[in-house]
Amino acid sequence: MIHHLSGMPEPLARLVEQLSAFQGIGPKTAMRLALNMLEQSENDVKSLAGSLEHLHEQVQFCDTCGGFSTANHCSICDNMKRQHHIVCVVEQPVDVLMLERGHFQGSYHVLHGRLSPVDGVGPEQLRFNSLDTRIADGKISELIMATSATVDGEATAHFISRRYAHLDMQISRIARGVPEGGELEYLDEYTLSRALEQRVLWEQERSAL
Ligand SMILES: [Zn+2]
Repeated sequence: MIHHLSGMPEPLARLVEQLSAFQGIGPKTAMRLALNMLEQSENDVKSLAGSLEHLHEQVQFCDTCGGFSTANHCSICDNMKRQHHIVCVVEQPVDVLMLERGHFQGSYHVLHGRLSPVDGVGPEQLRFNSLDTRIADGKISELIMATSATVDGEATAHFISRRYAHLDMQISRIARGVPEGGELEYLDEYTLSRALEQRVLWEQERSAL
């Protein structure tokens, strides 16, 4: 147990410890949150507990794109008004949420990570098989690579471009408005929209280097 929690009622101390386990939440913030919950009505806290209890069973991943979904298929893949021939490849489900704040009308493919040989993440650990299947259907005319501007994100983009280079399909990369080392979730919607609109064909980008 964290030493400064001594003297605190056990259930409260336990809650503070549990909250401290979350990324970005230090012991002080955890304490403030726990005390905040104690000040809320019992009903409000029970409602919060209910959301937590059903979170995993209710929020799943879409069979097609791998994004967040409450059913086998997400509302984006099911939406016939979207341009399903344009597919934006991202690393994490949260990236879809970020890009949806802009005006992108295509669909997505979530890899659930990026290639990282150091961490033992190869293509088999990512959702490449399902991307292969979608592409093999022949309905995709453009693949937009929106992997992060990190070393591993760039390596993943290179890998994608090589994997599908022989196919009759445009491959592009979001524009370099994305800061170096930048994860999509840290960008505002304006920057993201522009990065998507000003995407460059992969061959053009390579010859410009
Ligand atoms: Zn989907």
